[in-house]
Amino acid sequence: MTEPYRPEALAGNLAHISKSIDAAMTEHGLETPRPQVIAVSKRFHADHIRPLLEAGHHVFGENRVQEAQEKWPALKAEFPKTELHLIGQLQSNKAEEAVALFDVIQTVDRPKLARKLKDAVDKLDRHPTFFLQVNTGNEPQKGGAALHDLADLLAYCRDELALDIAGLMCIPPADDDPALHFALLNKLARRHGLAKLSMGMSADYEIAAVMGATYVRVGTAIFGTRPS
Ligand SMILES: *Cc1c(COP(=O)(O)O)cnc(C)c1O
Repeated sequence: MTEPYRPEALAGNLAHISKSIDAAMTEHGLETPRPQVIAVSKRFHADHIRPLLEAGHHVFGENRVQEAQEKWPALKAEFPKTELHLIGQLQSNKAEEAVALFDVIQTVDRPKLARKLKDAVDKLDRHPTFFLQVNTGNEPQKGGAALHDLADLLAYCRDELALDIAGLMCIPPADDDPALHFALLNKLARRHGLAKLSMGMSADYEIAAVMGATYVRVGTAIFGTRPS
């Protein structure tokens, strides 16, 4: 039941999302700050993103480096407060371009990629925040570190490379109960002393908020049906 894109609806959609997150958290007796909504603008043209920037929203997510490079340098110049998150799989050979453009890179999932990101951080002297993506559903086609590799990957990133690892991110399997995955991610973050959790999308952001998300990644519920 997604809506078509309508520029005049974006700010209202976002306000509705914030309100329903607040309602869900209140219902569960939670008073912690509500998660930041990352507006996932992948596949939408810069002109279709701009109305939300003009309405004052500044946190956005993209899943492809090349597409983001085509849209965001100009938008960031226009709206310098923008905080841009990379939420899609990252190839090692795009690490430098990603570090150059993104403020938060959420999809670190293997040592080789972490090493390339560290090289780019040093070379460019740009210091994005990183998340480790965890493949909580153990799906072969999906990015994310395997559960049994997480501790080693984190130790490598944090202790050896001194990358700024802020938290964990996951994308639950489409037909599992997302709450199980959100609970697992939360437990892993606590165990490893990580404060941030990126979890929840258009279909389940209220559940994610109740389960401790600090970022929810919402595309279609804000922008409407994505262009193909
Ligand atoms: C596209 C995407 C989203 C947003 O999905 P919606 O269902 O449109 O809200 C969130 N997270 C990731 C990793 C995505 O690729």
